[in-house]
Amino acid sequence: MPDLTSLALPHIAKLHAYTPGLQPTESGWVKLNTNECPYPPSPRLAEALRHEIGADGAALRLYPNPKSAPLRSVIARLHGHGLAEENVCVGNGSDDILNLLIRAFCTQDAAAGYTLPSYSLYPVLVEIQDGRTATIEFDRSMRLPIERIQASTARAFFLTSPNAPTGVAFSNAELERVLAAFKGLLVVDEAYAPFANENALPLLARHSNLVVVRTLSKAYALAGIRVGYALAHPEIIGLLDRVRDSYNVNRLSQAAAIAALGDQPYYDGVIAKVKATRDRGVVEFAGRRGWFTYPSQSNFIFTEPKNARGECGPAVSKSAYDFLYAHKVLVRHFPSHALTAPFLRISVGTDAEMGVLSETLDAWLKSPNA
Ligand SMILES: *Cc1c(COP(=O)(O)O)cnc(C)c1O
Repeated sequence: MPDLTSLALPHIAKLHAYTPGLQPTESGWVKLNTNECPYPPSPRLAEALRHEIGADGAALRLYPNPKSAPLRSVIARLHGHGLAEENVCVGNGSDDILNLLIRAFCTQDAAAGYTLPSYSLYPVLVEIQDGRTATIEFDRSMRLPIERIQASTARAFFLTSPNAPTGVAFSNAELERVLAAFKGLLVVDEAYAPFANENALPLLARHSNLVVVRTLSKAYALAGIRVGYALAHPEIIGLLDRVRDSYNVNRLSQAAAIAALGDQPYYDGVIAKVKATRDRGVVEFAGRRGWFTYPSQSNFIFTEPKNARGECGPAVSKSAYDFLYAHKVLVRHFPSHALTAPFLRISVGTDAEMGVLSETLDAWLKSPNA
């Protein structure tokens, strides 16, 4: 047999794939590891999907709308700010959109910039393209290094706001300072913006080099349906349309997304519940437990566990992670970066799930290896 890997392009042969959070197949887990919504999607979805499938699934014979045009128009109307269908590109999840942006704008001589820590998919997408990265490190304050981004020579800079895995949001005033000097494309990945106090949409009309990326996976409880989108100047949207798969969003996903986005009152309630649980969680970790915890404007909490002796650090957070895991409570630990290794990222669940988490952490603190 030939060495099949050596037949591949060299940069693919040495590629490290993205590591998604665990998706256990058996039941009984308290799943607080991938920032999914703890509540179901809009009750309108079931009927919309049945209607789209049609009798005997006959409607699925036909290809979907190639541009997701009806969905683009729903998205534009939903956001206002003078946005029209021409300002929207829909993807198979926002990961698809991020991939299209890297494909269209980044290569060896056109670096993709991003901060560390932030969403760990960016470097994987760049590696797939054999591109070059330009990274900017946060310090423990997690404040935006504005001057360094302004001076970045990246062709496109990917900024997660609110940031992952910290939950810290950057203000529009800060983004405007970046935009005043940065000459490349600024991509603001707003996966968690529905949980934040502010978002970058009002800046789109004034800055043609700004791209805002959104997803239905988190706030809309639709991670399984894979819909995300970009909002940007029509010229940028046109470039993304050139490189995307011609039918990149399937029929059922388009129909589900239209139904969900049409039910804002339902989601206002879901988001309000998640934010209330989050804020109580931050008070518990930062207040009652005295653990260093970043202010969160997302649907997760980034906290630095202290053991029974008041110590923290990578080994302590790993010990808490392992104890939670052994008790079927799943959270996320990011050991590969010094600024994230002492922490746990906890997705906001229902109040009942957060109660189980809290009791299990109490048990960890009383356990011999804490
Ligand atoms: C979850 C997440 C995404 C991925 O969203 P999908 O639409 O599910 O692909 C993108 N960016 C960030 C920062 C995320 O946390």
